[in-house]
Amino acid sequence: MKALLKSKSEPGLWLADVPEPRAGINDVLIRVDRTGICGTDLHIYKWDAWARQTIPVPMVVGHEFVGEVMEVGANVNDFHPGDVVSAEGHVVCGRCRNCLAGRRHLCKDTSGIGVNRPGAFAEFISVPMTNVWHHKPDIDRDVAAIFDPFGNAVHTALSFDLLGEDVLVTGAGPIGIMGAAVAKHAGARFVVITDVNDFRLDLARRMGADVAVNVTRENLREVQQRLGMKEGFDVGLEMSGNPEAFRDMIGQMCHGGKIAMLGIPSEPMPIDWNKVIFNMLTIRGIYGREMYETWYKMTVMLESGLDIRPVITHRFHYTEFERGFDAMKSGNAGKVILDWT
Ligand code: NAD
Ligand code: ZN
Repeated sequence: MKALLKSKSEPGLWLADVPEPRAGINDVLIRVDRTGICGTDLHIYKWDAWARQTIPVPMVVGHEFVGEVMEVGANVNDFHPGDVVSAEGHVVCGRCRNCLAGRRHLCKDTSGIGVNRPGAFAEFISVPMTNVWHHKPDIDRDVAAIFDPFGNAVHTALSFDLLGEDVLVTGAGPIGIMGAAVAKHAGARFVVITDVNDFRLDLARRMGADVAVNVTRENLREVQQRLGMKEGFDVGLEMSGNPEAFRDMIGQMCHGGKIAMLGIPSEPMPIDWNKVIFNMLTIRGIYGREMYETWYKMTVMLESGLDIRPVITHRFHYTEFERGFDAMKSGNAGKVILDWT
C-alpha cells in the first residue's frame, strides 16, 4: 500500500510502498478515507529535536483520520465491515492503576499512533478495537477526520464550567479556534481569542469568537473595558504554547480564575507565581482526550448544532501532501485534510 513514511533521519516525508498491516485477533483493519495534518506531523516533517528523540525510523506517520472498517479480528464483536470509524491516537497499557480504574487518558504508558506505532497516513491502518470510535454513517467525513484535534479542544474547553462565564483563549490555531467555538456552544458569555496572525483571527470570528484580538496591536485590558467586564476572565484556555501569551493570560484572570493548559511550550517558562497564589488561580494541564467521554461529547455537540467545518481551510489528495505541509508551514491555514481515496 501507499503510505507517508519518515524513512530517513532528515527533514521531509516520503511517499512509499509499505506492506499492508494485518488485523490481529483484537484489531480492526480500516481503509483510510481522509486524514488531518497535525502540528505533531509538522514537527516530524521538520525533524526537530523532539521528533529526532521520539520517532523511530522508518515510521508511517499521521494519527488524525476517518475510514471504513475492512476486516475485524476474531475477538471483535462491535465493529463490522463498512462501519465509518476514527480512532483514539493513544493506545493505553490497560494494566496500570489509572487504566484499571477506567481513567485511560491518565495511562502512564501510552503508545502513539503515527508516533510510536504505524500511523494513518496510509491506505490502511490496523488499530486495537478498544481505540476505535463509531461515527454515524452520514457524518461529514472531513469533520470526522479531525476528531483528534477537535477532541483536544473539547477536552480543554470542558475542563471547567463555562455557562455564563467569560472565557479567554490564547492562540487561534485550529485547536484554539475550535475551543472558542465549543466555549460559545457550551454557554459562555464572552469568548475572547488572541493570536498574532490575522488570517487565523478572522477564522476564529467566523467560528463564533466574540472578540478576536491581535496582541501586536491591541491589549486585553482594553478589550475587557470595551466589553464592560469588571473582574477579569473566569476561564482561560491556553492553546498557543507561547510564554508571552500565558503570562498575559495569568494577568487577565479574575480572582479564583481557572486555566486549562493545552499549548506545549518549547522550553521551561517563568511566570509570576505571586499572581497565581494571591489570586488563587487554578492551572490544569490537559493531554489528549478523555477516553471516551470527550469522544461522546464531540459527537453529541455536532448533533446539537456545533459546526466546526469552517476550520478546515485546505484539502489535497495524498499525492499532493507537500502542498498540504506547505499550507501548514505558511501559518495561513486552519486544518489541512488529505484525501486517501
Ligand atoms: P498552532 O501552532 O497551529 O497554534 C498556536 C497559535 O498560537 C498560532 O496560531 C500562533 O500564531 C499563536 N500564537 C503565537 N504567539 C502568540 C501570542 N503571543 N499570543 C497569542 N497567540 C500566539 O497549534 P494547534 O495545532 O492549534 O495546537 C495548539 C497548541 O496545543 C500547540 O502548542 C500544540 O503543540 C498543543 N497541543 C497539545 C496537545 C496536548 O495533548 N496537550 C495536543 C495537541 C496540540
Ligand atoms: Zn495504563
